[in-house]
Amino acid sequence: MSYVTLDHITKDFGPARVIDDISLAIEKGEFVVFVGPSGCGKSTLLRLIAGLEQVTGGALAIDGRDITRLDSANRGIAMVFQSYALYPHMTVADNITFGMRMNKVDKALIAERLSRAAQMLHLEPLLERRPAQLSGGQRQRVAIGRAIVRDPSVFLFDEPLSNLDAALRHEMRVEILKLHRDLGSTMIYVTHDQVEAMTMADKIVVLSGGKIEQIGSPLDLYLKPANRFVAEFLGSPK
Ligand code: ADP
Ligand code: MG
Repeated sequence: MSYVTLDHITKDFGPARVIDDISLAIEKGEFVVFVGPSGCGKSTLLRLIAGLEQVTGGALAIDGRDITRLDSANRGIAMVFQSYALYPHMTVADNITFGMRMNKVDKALIAERLSRAAQMLHLEPLLERRPAQLSGGQRQRVAIGRAIVRDPSVFLFDEPLSNLDAALRHEMRVEILKLHRDLGSTMIYVTHDQVEAMTMADKIVVLSGGKIEQIGSPLDLYLKPANRFVAEFLGSPK
């Protein structure tokens, strides 16, 4: 059985159907990339999986458990946003541990998880700084650190690198893949960048207009695009 399953998911905003009958199976430990043009529904689909929005129709399950009606706090999912969403007045350490402190997690466990995340993300020398004293790449590392310490069953990334310059984007891509390898976690990564999709994914889901155009490995999509949309979208990097 697959680890994450989306079963005929739809989402309407008023009269507009922005997610239109999406079914998908993701295996444990897979790195899946949702790619498609701006406005095709990528963020909405992630927010539905995270529980930040409720589905209009269909069902979601993780590891055989129906999560369709669960609050986002109880889904065991952590999401990393493009905008980082860090607290400006808190240190890096406090930003990373904020959720655990709110949930009254044991202090020793907090320290252990902070130290592990800081080590993985090379944040040890920066723990007492505030976000304003960090570069864009360092801020994104803090946002990822905050996800890691939650020890989630699934990581969601919504265009995490789009605020970074090209060189830093490349560096962070490698770091995220290394993290995926070290943690062995299931990761769903959204981008509108074809190169990012083709170089990072185990499995790519191509979206357009709230529907799936094609699912496959980068090589499958490259060699056998299902239709003209996929061929043109993945065949013409920016
Ligand atoms: P993407 O992330 O692929 O750029 P989004 O998921 O953000 O696309 O948006 C998909 C569509 O849903 C867009 O047409 C957008 O305007 C619409 N949409 C997203 N969120 C809302 C909302 N809260 N209310 C109404 N329409 C929305
Ligand atoms: Mg988006």
